[in-house]
Amino acid sequence: MPKNTAPVLLVSSLPANMVDFTRRLPMIVCPGCGSWVTLSGSHLPVHRGDNRPDAPRDHTGPRRPRCTASGRAVRMDTTAAEVGARLFRDEYDGRNRHRTRTAHPMAPAPLPPVHHMAMAR
Ligand SMILES: [Zn+2]
Repeated sequence: MPKNTAPVLLVSSLPANMVDFTRRLPMIVCPGCGSWVTLSGSHLPVHRGDNRPDAPRDHTGPRRPRCTASGRAVRMDTTAAEVGARLFRDEYDGRNRHRTRTAHPMAPAPLPPVHHMAMAR
């Protein structure tokens, strides 16, 4: 495996929703390809760009290119509690929400008051 010279990836620098501590080994979203990879050591595992461990492998097709982030050094510098707190804070932070865009149809002109209608006759 060629050595990956990219700078060390700090898990705390990833958004909280890209870190998963609910499994036996922590998982993160690969910054190179966006797929979930399991962290079992100090480096990202070697994986293909469309990493899908649950899907059956197609051994007859061409080899898929290796993800450029494979083998990148990773430092686990956060805890499940910190990630959970960040996730909770980010979820309730209004800046992360989409603005509500409401289309108001053109309102018809208001009718004249009833006593003005009676005087117009
Ligand atoms: Zn990747």
